[in-house]
Amino acid sequence: MKTKQTAKRQLTVRFMGLFALILLLINLIFVGISIAFVYNYISDRSEHIFETIEKSDPSGQDWSSLVDSYVIQDEEEALKVSLPNGEVHYSEDAAETFEDVAKGRSLPFLEHLVFVDDERYYYEEKELGNTKVALVIDSEAITDIVVNLLIVNLLLNVVGLVVGALLIYWMVGRWSLRLSKMSTELNQLDETQDFLTVPDDPKEMYQVATAFNTLLEKQRQAIQREKQFVSDASHELRTPITAIRGHVNLIQRRSEAHPEVIPQSLSFIDKESKRIDQLSEQLLNLSRAENKTQLEDIDFSTLVSREVEQLQATTEREIVSQIEPGIYFKAAKSELQQIIQNLVGNALKYAPTGEIQISLQKEDTIRLQVADHGIGIADEEKEKIFERLYRVDQSRASEVKGSGIGLSIVKALVEKYEGEIQVDDNQPQGTVFTILFPKK
Ligand code: ADP
Repeated sequence: MKTKQTAKRQLTVRFMGLFALILLLINLIFVGISIAFVYNYISDRSEHIFETIEKSDPSGQDWSSLVDSYVIQDEEEALKVSLPNGEVHYSEDAAETFEDVAKGRSLPFLEHLVFVDDERYYYEEKELGNTKVALVIDSEAITDIVVNLLIVNLLLNVVGLVVGALLIYWMVGRWSLRLSKMSTELNQLDETQDFLTVPDDPKEMYQVATAFNTLLEKQRQAIQREKQFVSDASHELRTPITAIRGHVNLIQRRSEAHPEVIPQSLSFIDKESKRIDQLSEQLLNLSRAENKTQLEDIDFSTLVSREVEQLQATTEREIVSQIEPGIYFKAAKSELQQIIQNLVGNALKYAPTGEIQISLQKEDTIRLQVADHGIGIADEEKEKIFERLYRVDQSRASEVKGSGIGLSIVKALVEKYEGEIQVDDNQPQGTVFTILFPKK
């Protein structure tokens, strides 16, 4: 497996690469400017000497005595004057210098600069009237200054790079320490601490830590709900089983002496075992509601009408429907039927009198409503009724048969289709369940 690079190393390497590149560019510019500057300086000097010679009428002069007066010996300048009559005059020690320069090489873009072994000269010649004047300036001293400056500059750059690298390494290390601390904390969550410490800055780390804590909180709540559900479900199942066992015991102990207990107990066992059957069926439905199903384009309007017809056949109570025709929805048919059956079933259970209204409309969304004039639901219960196995006021609810799973199935199905369910009070009394499905 490839070993993971630390942020410290990665950032230092990247930053140094960039830093070195910038320094290189700056140095190249500096070298270019220095060369141009030195070259200009020497050519100005040469220009000045030529001008002085030109002003003093070079053709009529006695060059043998004057040639030295145009150059400064200490500055290593050398002059060669070739007269039309073939005479050649050199300034002091210049003959040797000119011989050297003749062997040298020059650069294409700095044509007057001549390299002879280690030496550097500036060479220029001009025709002044019919006199040919050649000038050599030894440029070694000045170019040495520039070269030395460049070397010092380069050394300073290297020092800058090393110090920069160390500083960056140290700073990034300090910075990434927070990340390492965060990862240590993450590993210790649940053991020593409940939540991740949220740093004030940088903003991104603050956001990550906050988002993580929110997620953690949600997940813990979900796990808590799961635990609660499992314990409620097993409690719900155990209650009828305990009752059944009680009656089996009763039959075993007393049926010989009192055979009249048998039919009574059997009917009780029958009733309770049906309850277990129903409950496990509903629990299964609930887990199925959370699964994926095959979807088809369903004529929702016709489906609601048919369900209403079938439900009407099972009750004396009046179910009034108001259904807009031609509403289609992509869903699993059985799941839409289950939603309607559960809502109308509840309305029949919890509203012993009065008509039940069911409507289906399409506006911005597809709206399915089931309203009754029954006992209603208190505001503080409106959220809870959708929880699994929750029943309003157990004592009162026990008068009406139920398990507290119906609405959780409805909610799970509605959310599966990205819909919303809400519950409101009906006027003057009762409950209205409204489901909004997105129009697709
Ligand atoms: P169940 O009906 O099996 O108890 P549900 O999940 O269908 O379970 O409903 C949860 C609770 O919500 C019910 O116990 C009941 O108290 C309340 N409830 C549901 N529908 C209505 C309604 N139409 N009117 C009044 N209360 C209702």
